[in-house]
Amino acid sequence: MEKYWNQEIECMPREDMKKLQDERLVAQVKHVYENVKYYRDLMDEKGVKPEDIKSTDDLHKLPFISKADLREAYPYGLLAKPLGDCVRIHSTSGTTGKRVVAFYTQHDIDIWDECCARAITAAGGTNEDVVQIAYGFGLFTGGAGLNGGSHKVGCLTLPMSSGNTDRQITFMRDLGATILCCTPSYAAYIGETLHDMGLTPDDIKLKAGIFGAEPWTEEMRRSIENSLGIKAYDIYGLTEISGPGVAFECSEQSGMHINEDNFIAEIINPETGEVLPEGEVGELVFTSITKEAFPLLRYRTRDLCVLSRKKCSCGRTLVKMAKPMGRSDDMMIIRGVNVFPSQIETVLIEQGYSPNYLIEVDRVNNTDTIDINVEMNPDQLSDKVKDMQAQERSLAEAMKAMLGINPKVHLVTPKSITRSEGKAVRVIDRRKLHD
Ligand code: ADP
Ligand code: ZN
Repeated sequence: MEKYWNQEIECMPREDMKKLQDERLVAQVKHVYENVKYYRDLMDEKGVKPEDIKSTDDLHKLPFISKADLREAYPYGLLAKPLGDCVRIHSTSGTTGKRVVAFYTQHDIDIWDECCARAITAAGGTNEDVVQIAYGFGLFTGGAGLNGGSHKVGCLTLPMSSGNTDRQITFMRDLGATILCCTPSYAAYIGETLHDMGLTPDDIKLKAGIFGAEPWTEEMRRSIENSLGIKAYDIYGLTEISGPGVAFECSEQSGMHINEDNFIAEIINPETGEVLPEGEVGELVFTSITKEAFPLLRYRTRDLCVLSRKKCSCGRTLVKMAKPMGRSDDMMIIRGVNVFPSQIETVLIEQGYSPNYLIEVDRVNNTDTIDINVEMNPDQLSDKVKDMQAQERSLAEAMKAMLGINPKVHLVTPKSITRSEGKAVRVIDRRKLHD
């Protein structure tokens, strides 16, 4: 039986949800226009007044806002409430440049906790569960978000933060953790460490994992599920919009339900800004309709994604977003061909390699080069050079079939690639250094 945290909202008929969104959007646009000069200027520039926004059908009239605006308005330029009403600040991880900050009132934190409570419940969590949170705590939203949701559900919460992997496993065993929350790359590392300690999934009580904050493939999901003996659920979010829990996965594991009572999602053509119909891939754009302190309208996430309103077997009516393929800025253009790290990860795991790899991109004599360093599992090691070369060749061929270009593949010794405790760094692009 599927469990819901807030059945009324999660399974709300579409017409009712639209009505709720319409009301909230109209009020939010007014709030933003009146309280944020930066927005007022943007809207005036586009010739849009709050009265022009009568329902979600008018959403497309609003200007977009991007990370560049957030950097320009840093730190207080987009604040819509007096600082006296704000209780918390978080900051992005700075994966793609200067960090931006976001502000929260207590009401904003409550909404965020509610979203994470829905995610934990969808992953089977109840007040009987022990939730181990191995996302970083601090300015990063991962730890705080799941911590709040876990408290709300009434789970016994272990705020471990990331790192100290041996201790993670000791506590996991001693305290009988049943749900693990961390990045998928850290979950893979925990699984590997468990194995190295001579333990199996039977030695722990974990049943589910809630993993997100970075792109990961279906192949990676299966590999983590096997190594920890769990069902692995995806969770999506971003600091600018609140944090983890903007969208969460249900038992169907085929995309994440967006918490539409708080966030309206659109998919746009990243080049033209035109709104795309359901089912087309484009850039994900969010409008937060309930946040008080830092409410962004039509925020361009740069995440490439697709939305689906197909009926879900879990009973939720909330729109679903597919696993983001990565950000538009994760995409590498190699000799004119678009390449995503996720494609490389898919090939590696399919071919029986570990998800430990590092991609190095460079430009030599005006030609792009791509080198993929792949760690071998101990059983793939061979003392014959010939065998190793044959393995490298066969992997390079599989890569070529997937990517359409010919990368250089280097098999490296087990444990030689640095493990990630947070968001994994998979690509070093040296071309950026030369430009
Ligand atoms: P930064 O943008 O500096 O990494 P955040 O920590 O706020 O800051 O990260 C948000 C970003 O993380 C999202 O825009 C998205 O690119 C990525 N992300 C979050 N959750 C997922 C997920 N489940 N799958 C893929 N990417 C994700
Ligand atoms: Zn569902």
